[in-house]
Amino acid sequence: MDKYRVSPKEKVKLQDIETEGIGSKEEAVAKFLEINEKLEVLQERLYSEGKHKILVVLQGMDTSGKDGAIRGVFDGVNPQGVKVANFKVPTAEELAHDYLWRVHKQTPGKGEIVIFNRSHYEDVLVVRIHNLVPDKVWKKRYDQINDFERLLAEEGTTILKFFLHISRKEQKERLLERLADPSKHWKFNPGDLKERAIWDKYEEAYEDVLERTSTEWAPWYIIPADKKWFRNLVIGKILLETLEKLDIEVPPSMPADEVKQYQQQLENE
Ligand code: AMP
Ligand code: MG
Repeated sequence: MDKYRVSPKEKVKLQDIETEGIGSKEEAVAKFLEINEKLEVLQERLYSEGKHKILVVLQGMDTSGKDGAIRGVFDGVNPQGVKVANFKVPTAEELAHDYLWRVHKQTPGKGEIVIFNRSHYEDVLVVRIHNLVPDKVWKKRYDQINDFERLLAEEGTTILKFFLHISRKEQKERLLERLADPSKHWKFNPGDLKERAIWDKYEEAYEDVLERTSTEWAPWYIIPADKKWFRNLVIGKILLETLEKLDIEVPPSMPADEVKQYQQQLENE
Protein backbone atom coordinates (compact mmCIF):
# COMPACT_ATOMS: atom_id res chain seq x y z
CA MET A 1 0.00 0.00 0.00
CA ASP A 2 3.07 2.22 0.24
CA LYS A 3 2.83 3.08 -3.43
CA TYR A 4 -0.23 5.22 -2.75
CA ARG A 5 1.48 7.14 0.03
CA VAL A 6 2.91 10.58 -0.70
CA SER A 7 6.42 10.99 0.75
CA PRO A 8 7.13 14.22 2.63
CA LYS A 9 7.84 17.05 0.14
CA GLU A 10 7.31 14.74 -2.86
CA LYS A 11 6.31 16.58 -6.04
CA VAL A 12 2.80 15.63 -7.11
CA LYS A 13 1.41 15.94 -10.63
CA LEU A 14 -2.16 14.69 -10.45
CA GLN A 15 -2.56 14.44 -14.22
CA ASP A 16 0.14 11.76 -14.23
CA ILE A 17 -1.37 9.70 -11.42
CA GLU A 18 -3.71 6.77 -11.99
CA THR A 19 -7.42 7.24 -11.25
CA GLU A 20 -8.56 3.89 -12.66
CA GLY A 21 -7.31 1.14 -10.39
CA ILE A 22 -6.24 -2.38 -11.30
CA GLY A 23 -7.64 -5.91 -11.20
CA SER A 24 -11.13 -7.29 -11.60
CA LYS A 25 -14.18 -6.10 -9.73
CA GLU A 26 -15.10 -9.61 -8.55
CA GLU A 27 -11.71 -10.20 -6.97
CA ALA A 28 -11.62 -6.77 -5.39
CA VAL A 29 -15.07 -7.16 -3.87
CA ALA A 30 -14.17 -10.59 -2.44
CA LYS A 31 -10.93 -9.28 -0.95
CA PHE A 32 -12.70 -6.27 0.41
CA LEU A 33 -15.25 -8.43 2.25
CA GLU A 34 -12.44 -10.22 4.07
CA ILE A 35 -10.86 -6.90 4.99
CA ASN A 36 -14.16 -5.49 6.15
CA GLU A 37 -14.71 -8.42 8.53
CA LYS A 38 -11.26 -7.96 10.02
CA LEU A 39 -11.90 -4.24 10.37
CA GLU A 40 -15.06 -4.99 12.35
CA VAL A 41 -13.11 -7.14 14.79
CA LEU A 42 -10.24 -4.69 15.17
CA GLN A 43 -12.56 -1.73 15.65
CA GLU A 44 -14.30 -3.56 18.48
CA ARG A 45 -10.94 -4.30 20.10
CA LEU A 46 -9.88 -0.70 19.68
CA TYR A 47 -13.08 0.45 21.36
CA SER A 48 -12.81 -2.03 24.24
CA GLU A 49 -9.16 -1.15 24.81
CA GLY A 50 -9.99 2.56 24.89
CA LYS A 51 -6.48 3.77 24.24
CA HIS A 52 -5.77 4.58 20.61
CA LYS A 53 -7.41 7.39 18.66
CA ILE A 54 -7.80 7.14 14.88
CA LEU A 55 -8.44 10.05 12.56
CA VAL A 56 -9.30 9.42 8.92
CA VAL A 57 -9.42 12.50 6.67
CA LEU A 58 -11.27 12.28 3.35
CA GLN A 59 -10.83 14.92 0.69
CA GLY A 60 -11.54 14.97 -3.02
CA MET A 61 -13.32 16.86 -5.76
CA ASP A 62 -17.12 16.91 -5.82
CA THR A 63 -18.53 13.42 -6.60
CA SER A 64 -15.18 11.80 -5.79
CA GLY A 65 -17.01 9.39 -3.47
CA LYS A 66 -16.35 10.63 0.05
CA ASP A 67 -19.82 9.61 1.26
CA GLY A 68 -19.68 6.33 -0.63
CA ALA A 69 -16.29 5.46 0.85
CA ILE A 70 -17.60 6.07 4.36
CA ARG A 71 -20.63 3.87 3.72
CA GLY A 72 -18.61 1.18 1.98
CA VAL A 73 -15.46 0.90 4.06
CA PHE A 74 -17.23 1.04 7.42
CA ASP A 75 -20.16 -1.14 6.40
CA GLY A 76 -21.13 -3.36 9.33
CA VAL A 77 -18.68 -1.76 11.74
CA ASN A 78 -20.27 -1.06 15.12
CA PRO A 79 -21.42 2.58 15.01
CA GLN A 80 -20.42 2.90 18.68
CA GLY A 81 -16.95 4.25 18.57
CA VAL A 82 -17.05 5.35 14.93
CA LYS A 83 -18.09 8.91 14.21
CA VAL A 84 -18.34 10.94 11.04
CA ALA A 85 -17.68 14.68 11.13
CA ASN A 86 -18.91 16.65 8.10
CA PHE A 87 -17.34 20.02 7.40
CA LYS A 88 -19.63 22.31 5.45
CA VAL A 89 -19.52 26.05 4.77
CA PRO A 90 -18.60 27.49 8.19
CA THR A 91 -21.33 29.06 10.32
CA ALA A 92 -21.06 32.65 11.58
CA GLU A 93 -19.89 31.34 14.93
CA GLU A 94 -17.25 29.14 13.31
CA LEU A 95 -16.04 32.03 11.15
CA ALA A 96 -15.66 34.16 14.26
CA HIS A 97 -12.96 31.72 15.43
CA ASP A 98 -9.74 30.44 13.93
CA TYR A 99 -10.29 27.79 11.24
CA LEU A 100 -9.06 24.92 13.42
CA TRP A 101 -11.51 25.66 16.23
CA ARG A 102 -14.36 23.62 14.78
CA VAL A 103 -11.97 20.91 13.68
CA HIS A 104 -10.18 20.28 16.97
CA LYS A 105 -13.53 19.73 18.71
CA GLN A 106 -14.31 16.81 16.41
CA THR A 107 -11.03 14.92 16.74
CA PRO A 108 -11.24 11.37 18.14
CA GLY A 109 -11.15 10.51 21.82
CA LYS A 110 -9.61 7.32 23.21
CA GLY A 111 -10.92 4.19 21.51
CA GLU A 112 -12.63 6.18 18.78
CA ILE A 113 -12.34 6.29 15.01
CA VAL A 114 -13.41 9.62 13.55
CA ILE A 115 -13.82 10.13 9.83
CA PHE A 116 -13.59 13.67 8.52
CA ASN A 117 -15.82 14.14 5.47
CA ARG A 118 -13.94 17.23 4.23
CA SER A 119 -11.77 18.89 6.82
CA HIS A 120 -9.45 21.75 7.70
CA TYR A 121 -7.98 21.26 4.22
CA GLU A 122 -10.94 23.18 2.81
CA ASP A 123 -9.25 26.18 4.38
CA VAL A 124 -6.41 25.91 1.85
CA LEU A 125 -8.59 24.66 -1.02
CA VAL A 126 -11.98 26.32 -1.53
CA VAL A 127 -10.87 29.24 0.63
CA ARG A 128 -7.81 29.80 -1.55
CA ILE A 129 -9.62 29.34 -4.85
CA HIS A 130 -12.44 31.69 -3.99
CA ASN A 131 -10.24 34.24 -2.23
CA LEU A 132 -12.18 33.92 1.00
CA VAL A 133 -9.15 35.16 2.92
CA PRO A 134 -6.05 37.06 1.69
CA ASP A 135 -3.15 35.06 0.20
CA LYS A 136 -0.86 35.79 3.08
CA VAL A 137 -3.38 34.24 5.46
CA TRP A 138 -3.96 30.90 3.72
CA LYS A 139 -0.30 30.53 2.77
CA LYS A 140 0.62 30.27 6.44
CA ARG A 141 -1.85 27.47 6.95
CA TYR A 142 0.21 24.57 5.58
CA ASP A 143 2.71 24.92 8.41
CA GLN A 144 -0.07 25.53 10.91
CA ILE A 145 -1.86 22.38 9.77
CA ASN A 146 1.33 20.31 9.99
CA ASP A 147 1.89 21.60 13.52
CA PHE A 148 -1.72 20.90 14.50
CA GLU A 149 -1.53 17.37 13.17
CA ARG A 150 1.79 16.84 14.91
CA LEU A 151 0.18 17.84 18.18
CA LEU A 152 -2.61 15.32 17.63
CA ALA A 153 -0.11 12.60 16.71
CA GLU A 154 2.12 13.28 19.71
CA GLU A 155 -0.93 13.05 21.93
CA GLY A 156 -1.70 9.57 20.62
CA THR A 157 -3.75 10.03 17.45
CA THR A 158 -3.01 7.95 14.38
CA ILE A 159 -3.79 10.05 11.32
CA LEU A 160 -4.52 8.80 7.79
CA LYS A 161 -5.45 11.18 4.99
CA PHE A 162 -7.00 9.98 1.76
CA PHE A 163 -7.31 12.04 -1.39
CA LEU A 164 -9.94 10.39 -3.59
CA HIS A 165 -8.53 10.88 -7.05
CA ILE A 166 -11.10 10.87 -9.87
CA SER A 167 -10.72 11.97 -13.46
CA ARG A 168 -12.62 14.91 -14.86
CA LYS A 169 -14.35 12.53 -17.24
CA GLU A 170 -15.58 10.33 -14.37
CA GLN A 171 -16.94 13.38 -12.59
CA LYS A 172 -18.97 14.27 -15.68
CA GLU A 173 -20.46 10.78 -15.72
CA ARG A 174 -21.33 10.88 -12.04
CA LEU A 175 -23.00 14.27 -12.38
CA LEU A 176 -24.99 13.03 -15.39
CA GLU A 177 -26.03 9.94 -13.38
CA ARG A 178 -27.31 12.13 -10.60
CA LEU A 179 -29.35 14.16 -13.08
CA ALA A 180 -30.76 11.06 -14.76
CA ASP A 181 -32.13 9.66 -11.48
CA PRO A 182 -34.77 11.81 -9.75
CA SER A 183 -34.08 10.07 -6.45
CA LYS A 184 -30.51 11.36 -6.66
CA HIS A 185 -31.40 14.96 -7.48
CA TRP A 186 -30.90 15.98 -3.86
CA LYS A 187 -27.22 15.20 -4.34
CA PHE A 188 -26.94 17.48 -7.35
CA ASN A 189 -25.81 20.96 -6.57
CA PRO A 190 -25.73 23.42 -9.49
CA GLY A 191 -22.71 24.97 -7.77
CA ASP A 192 -20.78 21.79 -8.54
CA LEU A 193 -20.77 22.80 -12.23
CA LYS A 194 -19.12 26.09 -11.36
CA GLU A 195 -16.45 24.26 -9.39
CA ARG A 196 -16.04 21.78 -12.24
CA ALA A 197 -15.33 24.67 -14.60
CA ILE A 198 -12.28 25.55 -12.51
CA TRP A 199 -11.05 21.95 -12.15
CA ASP A 200 -7.46 23.04 -12.96
CA LYS A 201 -7.41 25.46 -10.07
CA TYR A 202 -8.56 22.75 -7.70
CA GLU A 203 -5.97 20.39 -9.09
CA GLU A 204 -3.24 22.93 -8.45
CA ALA A 205 -4.49 23.63 -4.93
CA TYR A 206 -4.66 19.90 -4.19
CA GLU A 207 -1.13 19.39 -5.50
CA ASP A 208 0.14 22.00 -3.06
CA VAL A 209 -1.75 20.34 -0.22
CA LEU A 210 -0.35 16.91 -1.06
CA GLU A 211 3.21 18.21 -1.46
CA ARG A 212 3.26 20.37 1.63
CA THR A 213 1.23 18.45 4.19
CA SER A 214 2.16 14.81 3.74
CA THR A 215 4.28 14.15 6.82
CA GLU A 216 5.66 11.18 8.73
CA TRP A 217 3.01 11.73 11.38
CA ALA A 218 0.08 12.40 9.03
CA PRO A 219 0.65 10.94 5.55
CA TRP A 220 -1.51 11.53 2.51
CA TYR A 221 -2.54 8.64 0.28
CA ILE A 222 -3.70 9.25 -3.28
CA ILE A 223 -6.46 6.73 -3.93
CA PRO A 224 -7.48 5.86 -7.50
CA ALA A 225 -11.21 6.49 -7.15
CA ASP A 226 -12.84 6.15 -10.58
CA LYS A 227 -13.83 2.60 -9.61
CA LYS A 228 -15.73 2.49 -6.35
CA TRP A 229 -14.72 -1.11 -5.63
CA PHE A 230 -11.05 -0.30 -6.06
CA ARG A 231 -11.31 2.81 -3.91
CA ASN A 232 -12.92 0.86 -1.05
CA LEU A 233 -10.41 -1.95 -1.33
CA VAL A 234 -7.38 0.33 -1.09
CA ILE A 235 -8.73 2.47 1.74
CA GLY A 236 -9.86 -0.63 3.63
CA LYS A 237 -6.49 -2.26 3.23
CA ILE A 238 -4.50 0.78 4.38
CA LEU A 239 -6.77 1.19 7.37
CA LEU A 240 -6.52 -2.49 8.27
CA GLU A 241 -2.71 -2.52 7.96
CA THR A 242 -2.56 0.55 10.17
CA LEU A 243 -4.80 -0.95 12.86
CA GLU A 244 -2.88 -4.23 12.78
CA LYS A 245 0.34 -2.37 13.55
CA LEU A 246 -1.12 -0.71 16.62
CA ASP A 247 -0.80 -3.67 18.94
CA ILE A 248 -4.20 -3.31 20.49
CA GLU A 249 -4.53 -4.96 23.88
CA VAL A 250 -8.04 -5.99 24.80
CA PRO A 251 -8.98 -5.91 28.49
CA PRO A 252 -7.94 -9.19 30.18
CA SER A 253 -10.54 -11.90 30.72
CA MET A 254 -11.52 -12.82 34.30
CA PRO A 255 -9.79 -15.66 36.16
CA ALA A 256 -11.74 -18.92 35.81
CA ASP A 257 -12.63 -19.21 39.51
CA GLU A 258 -14.06 -15.68 39.48
CA VAL A 259 -16.20 -16.52 36.43
CA LYS A 260 -17.42 -19.65 38.19
CA GLN A 261 -18.33 -17.72 41.32
CA TYR A 262 -20.49 -15.26 39.34
CA GLN A 263 -22.10 -18.08 37.38
CA GLN A 264 -23.03 -19.86 40.60
CA GLN A 265 -24.36 -16.67 42.10
CA LEU A 266 -26.68 -16.27 39.10
CA GLU A 267 -27.71 -19.90 39.03
CA ASN A 268 -28.56 -19.89 42.73
CA GLU A 269 -30.96 -16.95 42.38
P1 AMP B 1 -20.85 18.91 0.49
O1 AMP B 1 -19.62 18.19 0.91
O2 AMP B 1 -21.29 18.60 -0.90
O3 AMP B 1 -21.94 18.80 1.49
O4 AMP B 1 -20.50 20.45 0.43
C1 AMP B 1 -19.95 21.14 1.48
C2 AMP B 1 -19.46 22.45 0.94
O5 AMP B 1 -18.89 23.19 2.02
C3 AMP B 1 -18.40 22.32 -0.12
O6 AMP B 1 -18.71 23.09 -1.23
C4 AMP B 1 -17.15 22.85 0.57
O7 AMP B 1 -16.24 23.45 -0.30
C5 AMP B 1 -17.74 23.83 1.57
N1 AMP B 1 -16.82 24.09 2.68
C6 AMP B 1 -16.34 23.19 3.56
N2 AMP B 1 -15.47 23.78 4.41
C7 AMP B 1 -15.40 25.08 4.04
C8 AMP B 1 -14.66 26.19 4.51
N3 AMP B 1 -13.81 26.09 5.54
N4 AMP B 1 -14.84 27.38 3.90
C9 AMP B 1 -15.70 27.48 2.85
N5 AMP B 1 -16.41 26.47 2.35
C10 AMP B 1 -16.26 25.28 2.93
MG1 MG C 1 -21.13 18.63 -2.90
